[in-house]
Parts: sequence; structure tokens; C-alpha cells
Amino acid sequence: MNIRPSKIVCIGRSYAAHAKELGNAIPTRPVLFIKPPSTLATLEQGVVWNRNLGSCHYECELTLRVDRSLTNVTDPKQALAAVGAVTLGLDLTLRDLQSELKGKGEPWERSKAFDGACVLADWVDVSEVDLTCTQYELSINGEVRQQGNTALLLHSIADMLCDMSQAFTLEAGDVVMTGTPAGVGALSSNDVLTMTLFTQSKEIVWQTKVL
Ligand code: ZN
Repeated sequence: MNIRPSKIVCIGRSYAAHAKELGNAIPTRPVLFIKPPSTLATLEQGVVWNRNLGSCHYECELTLRVDRSLTNVTDPKQALAAVGAVTLGLDLTLRDLQSELKGKGEPWERSKAFDGACVLADWVDVSEVDLTCTQYELSINGEVRQQGNTALLLHSIADMLCDMSQAFTLEAGDVVMTGTPAGVGALSSNDVLTMTLFTQSKEIVWQTKVL
């Protein structure tokens, strides 16, 4: 299934170590925001942003595709059963602009919803991973910068999906980015980003670059 999602739902501060590195309090419920489908970019398209808007940070995140609609779900098993595929994605963030917006109490869209702000790798069938302890990694120019494991999420993926579905309907095809582990930082021209997903049987490696 490869339909255009109606939205990409993102979670902020889902790992304690990342909340701390940006000086944010650890939230008691998931912080949600949405990227429109116009943010989607492929690995081949690479990372592109308007340099006039300041720094662009990488956030490598385990990303889910919801294949069945979820509304007001309270049963974690039902929520998990709707996930059809996983991949790794980059929740690109114009950090200088986001800091300015946060300071003014404004929404984050200008910093998180620009064209190309969601770079996704290829979908992998969900049966390849155990969503309660999926490990992944981001290297830049050969140096490991981020290591994530869903076992360290403040809220389990099942609980996050239930919570989202109570805020709004997740439609079939919608994409969920589960939040970034620590180690975010600014990108530079020509950086090569390597994302590795550790499935139960193998390592899947994807590359993209900053244009
Ligand atoms: Zn993020």
C-alpha cells in the first residue's frame, strides 16, 4: 500500500534524553504536531531547506504507517494491529526559527512543515520488527550521532497511537513519526546521512544527503 497520507503525525519529546538536551520538561502526555503531506520527500530528493531561515536540524525517527483507521481507540492491541509498516524518517526542523516561534508562543509549522521537511526511507513490513524494542541509528559522514530504541520511549507506541486516536482520527495511510532520541544537531551542505534499522533478522541501511 502506497497511498498519499492525509497527514504525518509527529511526537515531540518522546525520549527523556532528547527532552533534556533541548531544555524541555518531560511531558506527562505525548506532545503532538502534524506535518502536511506536502512535506514528504524521498531519500533521492535529499535534504533541502531555505538557508535564509537559519539552521536545519536532523531528527531521525522510527516511523509507522497506519493501514487501518483509528478513532477513539483505548485498546493498545487494536492500535498496534493497525500498523502495517515501519521505516526510518527525518523530522527536519528549522531550529533557529522554531526557537523564535516557541519564544513568541506561536505554532511550529513554519519550522517543521516546509516542503521536504519529512524525508522517508522505504517501508518495511511491520512483522520484521518488535515495536516494543526496535533499535535504529543515524550516522553523519560516517560518525554515529543518534541511537534510538523504542524500549526507551516515555510512552509505548501502542499508548501513543491510542492517545492520538482520541485527539483526531488516524486514517488509513497516515504516517506517525515516533519522536527523536538524543543527539540532534545542525546539518551542513553535502553531509551524507546514513540511517540503519535493526530488524529481527538483519540491518537495513539507507542513505540520503544534504543538497
Ligand atoms: Zn521529531
